[in-house]
Amino acid sequence: MPQHKTQEPCIICVAITGSVSSKAHNPAVPISISEQLESTHESFDAGASIAHCHVRNEDGTPSSDPERFARLQEGLLKHCPGLILQFSTGGRSGAGRERGGMLPLRPDMASLTVGSTNFPTRVYENSPELVDWLSGEMLEHDIRAEIEVFDLSHIFKAADMLAAGQFNGPPHVQFVMGVKNSMPLDRAVFDFYRQTTQRLMPEATWCAAGIGRHQITMNEWCVAEGGHARTGLEDNVRMDQDTLAPSNAALVSRLVDICHEHGREAATPAEARTILGLRKSSAA
Ligand code: ZN
Repeated sequence: MPQHKTQEPCIICVAITGSVSSKAHNPAVPISISEQLESTHESFDAGASIAHCHVRNEDGTPSSDPERFARLQEGLLKHCPGLILQFSTGGRSGAGRERGGMLPLRPDMASLTVGSTNFPTRVYENSPELVDWLSGEMLEHDIRAEIEVFDLSHIFKAADMLAAGQFNGPPHVQFVMGVKNSMPLDRAVFDFYRQTTQRLMPEATWCAAGIGRHQITMNEWCVAEGGHARTGLEDNVRMDQDTLAPSNAALVSRLVDICHEHGREAATPAEARTILGLRKSSAA
């Protein structure tokens, strides 16, 4: 890792929305569109420059409704100028091609998982056909891919896709560690992921998400190594073992503090757009 990278502003992504069961653990988890807007706005003020978004039905169950994504997008564009919007095309955004039904809304970014893995109670299925279709939609609508890496093979798959022209620019690569039955938090694997990403896709940027109690450890590793970082109630509802996180903004503030301890600043949305090479406006 070149020395200067460890001084570069850190792009903070906040994953705002958790599941019904995480809301049962911590009532601060935003579910409705209005709760999401308020929580994202606070997180934006605290230093987040990317919002990773899911939408939910009234009862809190996962939704793939493009109309809900449109309402969330409209509110975020109005209240958080410049904020980078990232829609999830993950398994909670419906089944099969429903997962990409909101892509015509042209968010700045969308998450893309390029292979399958096990989750705590199910298989997280990402068939080659679906991955190609989702990346095709993202290319058509000029959306930057954030690759969710649950396994080493996903980095190689992303590099093949980049070489084949399946992305509109170098991907932002996110290592996900700590999901039960998938890759655990492991320092040697984290280092190898980074080295492999830099070797295969030198132009790619990277970040990582630690799930549950691993969130803060992962935040520290990312900031120290010059990467970007993700926090938020989707991944973790606690500040520490004994304390629930009062808000997404509190988790963002904790991450900003970690940046300062390492002599880095949280990237502004404009800086984040430059680092990622994104278009200026996220308007449709
Ligand atoms: Zn998500």
